[in-house]
Amino acid sequence: MDDQDLLRYSRHILLEEFGIDGQERVSAGHVLVIGAGGLGSPALLYLAAAGVGRITIVDDDRVDLTNLQRQIAHSTERVDAPKVRSAAEAMRALNPTIRIDCVEQRASPTELRTLVAEADVVLDCSDNFATRHAINQACVSAGRPLVAGAAIRFDGQLSVYDSRDASSPCYACLFPPDSEFEETRCAVLGAFGPVVGTIGTLQANEALKLLAGVQPSLAGRLLMFDGRRTTFDSMKVARDPACGVCGHRPGETRA
Ligand SMILES: [Zn+2]
Repeated sequence: MDDQDLLRYSRHILLEEFGIDGQERVSAGHVLVIGAGGLGSPALLYLAAAGVGRITIVDDDRVDLTNLQRQIAHSTERVDAPKVRSAAEAMRALNPTIRIDCVEQRASPTELRTLVAEADVVLDCSDNFATRHAINQACVSAGRPLVAGAAIRFDGQLSVYDSRDASSPCYACLFPPDSEFEETRCAVLGAFGPVVGTIGTLQANEALKLLAGVQPSLAGRLLMFDGRRTTFDSMKVARDPACGVCGHRPGETRA
């Protein structure tokens, strides 16, 4: 770390739980962020600002005027630009010292497995169940911690699914792939900008803690934010031994 880095990251380095060691781990880290929309925008900006050494962004969408009310990594002049490029531009303006890889496509389950295996921490900032389950599957297979956020209307939720911890559930333990969940989309129901931003920011909070080694993580708890009442609630969540995704892990016998 040179003098410029010591200055740039000084307010993180000053934190007792973080320190130079934490910053060095963050600088050596690789975070994969799937989705550069409302959740991905603040998450990507905070990860870039904190100096995550390598950030890979996956999104196949282009910036639309209707995005700008909440997707703060984008700008009016970048309407119609690919979201990965637009987000990377905003991140580079904050911190030109990091490596940013753009994957301008909707990643298939096979591609996700490759991308996830290369990363240290994965952020699910996507907006549909099929992608969420594909990301979770890839994270369980590769043993990578997953920070999953979601927000719609005035409601947000967040958890960390860390399959390296035998007691931690995976996303499918809580939201089984075969159950009938109504897909709720913000294009139909609306999404309050600061609620989406709060959850995306908290995803960066958990990702940086995982990289730097700041304990405890949110694994084993589901956090819920009600932006209308401005309240946070959390509940303990347990691993489902019968889960079709993580129910049988290498070296374990199925109950
Ligand atoms: Zn599971």
